[in-house]
Amino acid sequence: SHMKVEMMAKCMAKVYSLCESEATSCGHTIEMDALDRDIMLLMDRDKIIQVLINLIRNAFQAMERAGHVHFALSREGEMAVIQVRDNGKGIPMSEIDKIFDPFYTTKEEGTGLGLSLCQKIIEDHNGYISVESEVGSGTVFTVKLPTTAGCS
Ligand code: ADP
Ligand code: MG
Repeated sequence: SHMKVEMMAKCMAKVYSLCESEATSCGHTIEMDALDRDIMLLMDRDKIIQVLINLIRNAFQAMERAGHVHFALSREGEMAVIQVRDNGKGIPMSEIDKIFDPFYTTKEEGTGLGLSLCQKIIEDHNGYISVESEVGSGTVFTVKLPTTAGCS
């Protein structure tokens, strides 16, 4: 396996750098708050990066006009909390239970596989992914992952 103890803030900085130019070319802005350098996770780094990029891409695609994505790291007890917040179109209450289903998409060229894969990867890391949304005001995805002590 590719599980290693990694600094979450560093992983997020990588995601941010990979998404920044896409934000600009779509006319969006992205802002990151990941100051806590003590949050260490046992993870398959490339898979966690893939999850976060998926969430940020979905956020960009949900914002019709110039939108803003806030990408943040915090800690809740033994869990790392990563949030991706957008001010896009939101998800109707009647649809929200379906978004993690494989092949559920509202996009003409979507596969509907992004969030189901995100959920599988997060659950493989003993974490949780959840969503809160309001139509017309935006969406926030929250990923919680267990932290580990750093190796020394
Ligand atoms: P895809 O991006 O291929 O459509 P996903 O599994 O990534 O597949 O997402 C499924 C659906 O969930 C999307 O088609 C969209 O309707 C909804 N969705 C996901 N993220 C957001 C978001 N940030 N804002 C609004 N809707 C979203
Ligand atoms: Mg997607």
